[in-house]
Amino acid sequence: MKDIIEKYIRNVPDFPKPGIMFKDITPLLAEPRIMQLTLNELLRLVPRKVDKVVGIEARGFIFGTLLAEHLNAGFIPIRKPGKLPFETHTQSYALEYGTDSIEMHIDAIVPGEKVLIHDDVLATGGTALAAAKLVEKAGGEVVMINFLLELAFLKGREKLKNYPVSSLLRYE
Ligand code: AMP
Repeated sequence: MKDIIEKYIRNVPDFPKPGIMFKDITPLLAEPRIMQLTLNELLRLVPRKVDKVVGIEARGFIFGTLLAEHLNAGFIPIRKPGKLPFETHTQSYALEYGTDSIEMHIDAIVPGEKVLIHDDVLATGGTALAAAKLVEKAGGEVVMINFLLELAFLKGREKLKNYPVSSLLRYE
């Protein structure tokens, strides 16, 4: 199964900048049967009982919403600053040069809710860690952080060591 799915992930060298091998999931999204296969495989990795699925802008919204629907959970978007219309919690995180931040609506999560975080790619883990902190600021419990694929050589899991992490595909 994983071999089939992997064929639909395109490697784009030097995007968005030199030295980055971008994992492009759009070929996978364009094939309905591969989308379904991928969703089914992701569902095998995640807990059944979650109250909310948090998707990280923007590609985390795609399988994030599908997972939420199948888990009978609500979907919550985490977005770049200034995109969400209502009051937000903000979390900053370090980049190679400088900092960035992400936001979530203050009423997105009810304290005590079980939350699954989803994004397409685990790279350094900085974004996912910031997402976990946002969920915790709102009083949620992060039950898992899930990815479609993991760039294992960047050691993002070390940054996320306090959380259960799962990914469908692993690149060494
Ligand atoms: P991270 O370094 O784990 O904080 O990743 C930052 C964001 O960029 C995440 O939303 C990842 O999904 C995305 N990302 C990082 N590296 C790649 C890559 N090589 N291909 C596709 N997306 C990436």
